[in-house]
Amino acid sequence: MPLNVLIAGGGVAGLEACFALRDLAGDRVHCTVLTPEREFVYRPMAVAEPFARGVAQHVALETIAADAGASLVSGELARVDDAAHVAITTDGAELPYDALIVAVGAGSEPAFPRALTWTPESDAEVFGGLLRDIEEGYTKQVAFVVPVGVAWPLPAYELALMTAWQADSMGQGDVEVTIYTPESAPLQAFGLAAGAAVREDLEEAGVRVETDAAVHATEHGFVVEPGGRALAGRVVALPRAVGPAVAGLANDVRGFIQVDAHGKVFGTANVWAAGDAIAFPVKQGGLAAQQAVAAAQSIAARAGAAVHPEPFKPVLRGVLLTGRGQAWLRRADEGTEGEAQRRALFWPPTKIAGRYLSPYLAGEPVTAPPGQLVDLDLR
Ligand SMILES: Cc1cc2nc3c(=O)[nH]c(=O)nc-3n(C[C@H](O)[C@H](O)[C@H](O)COP(=O)(O)OP(=O)(O)OC[C@H]3O[C@@H](n4cnc5c(N)ncnc54)[C@H](O)[C@@H]3O)c2cc1C
Repeated sequence: MPLNVLIAGGGVAGLEACFALRDLAGDRVHCTVLTPEREFVYRPMAVAEPFARGVAQHVALETIAADAGASLVSGELARVDDAAHVAITTDGAELPYDALIVAVGAGSEPAFPRALTWTPESDAEVFGGLLRDIEEGYTKQVAFVVPVGVAWPLPAYELALMTAWQADSMGQGDVEVTIYTPESAPLQAFGLAAGAAVREDLEEAGVRVETDAAVHATEHGFVVEPGGRALAGRVVALPRAVGPAVAGLANDVRGFIQVDAHGKVFGTANVWAAGDAIAFPVKQGGLAAQQAVAAAQSIAARAGAAVHPEPFKPVLRGVLLTGRGQAWLRRADEGTEGEAQRRALFWPPTKIAGRYLSPYLAGEPVTAPPGQLVDLDLR
C-alpha cells in the first residue's frame, strides 16, 4: 500500500510538496490535498494589479492536483491527533493519514487599524482610489510603512516605486513618496548588494527611504521613532502575519508551528509543516517551497524511496518590480553580500522560485530529465 500523505493547504508549500513527493517517491506515496479553496492564486503579482502592470495568475486546484497525481478534498484543518493518525477538519470530518504536511500559510492582520493596509486580497480599487487622489492633485505625500515584525517587506518597495513612477506619468512629479522600515538597509534580507541596487532604483524614482524606523499609531495619527516626528499625508502599511495556531501541534506564542530543520513538527511522530505557517522569521514563497521539499524528502525516505533527506538551508531568491522593469535578487548564505542583477539569476525567472511549482506554472517540464531535481540557479 502506498504511504497515505495528507497535505493541508493548497498554496505554494502544499503544492510544491505534492510535486516533490510524486517526483521523489512515485507510487510509494499517495497525496491528498485538503483545502477550502478552489483556485491557486499567484499572490506576489497582486502588487502590480492597481498599476495595470501584471495580474495575479489563477489556476484551478483540481487541474494542479490532477497533474501532480494527487486527490483533492474540500475542507479546513482544525486539529491534529497524531497519536490516532487523524486530522480533524472544522466540519468534524476525520481524515486518516500515515504522514501529514501542514502547509496552511499564515493569516494577516492590520498593524494600524486606521491606515490603508495593503494585502494581495485587498480590492485593487482601494489602492486605485489613492492613485486617483494623486492624479487629481489631492495627495502630495504618501508613506509606505513596513511595521515592526513584518516578515516580508518587499511589497512595500514595489508599491512605493510603482506609485512614484505612476505619479510622475500623471504629471504629479512633486508627490513625495517615502518608505519607513525597521530594516537597517533596504531589503536587508537579500544582503548589501541588493540594498545598493535597490537604493539606485529608489533614487531614480525619487523615493526616499528611512531605515531603522519604527512607526507607531497615536490618537492623532502616526509618529516615527526615533525622533517622534509625525507622519504627514496618506499612510499605506503592510499587514503583520498571524500564525494558524493549529490545535494539537507545537505552536509558538504567535501561533506559528515549531519544526526542526527537516520540517518535522516538534513532539509529533508523523507530522511535518512548511511555509508561512511555521516559526521561521522570513515568510516568502521561495523559502516556503524549499521547506516543502525538505519535508517531502523526509517523507519519501520514510516511504522507502532512495532519498537522503537534506535539512532546509534557505536560499533567498526574489524579483523586485521596480516600476521601470525588474531586478533579480539572490542570497544563498546570510554571511554573503548577495547578488542583484537586471537579468534573471534563476529560471523560470518568476517571483516565486521553487524547484517544482514555478516550472509547472510557467508551463515548463517539472523534472527534466524525469527523476532529477530541476536546478534553478543560472550562473
Ligand atoms: C503582498 C505579498 C507579496 C509577496 N511577494 C512575494 C514574492 O515576490 N516572492 C515570493 O517568493 N514570495 C512572496 N510573497 C510571499 C508568498 O506569497 C508566501 O510566502 C507564500 O504564499 C507562502 O506559501 P504557503 O503555502 O505557506 O501559504 P499560502 O500560499 O498562503 O497557502 C496556504 C493555503 O492553505 C489554505 N488554508 C488556510 N487555512 C487552511 C486550513 N485550516 N486547512 C487547509 N487549508 C488551509 C489557504 O487557503 C491557502 O490556499 C508575497 C506575499 C505577499 C503577502
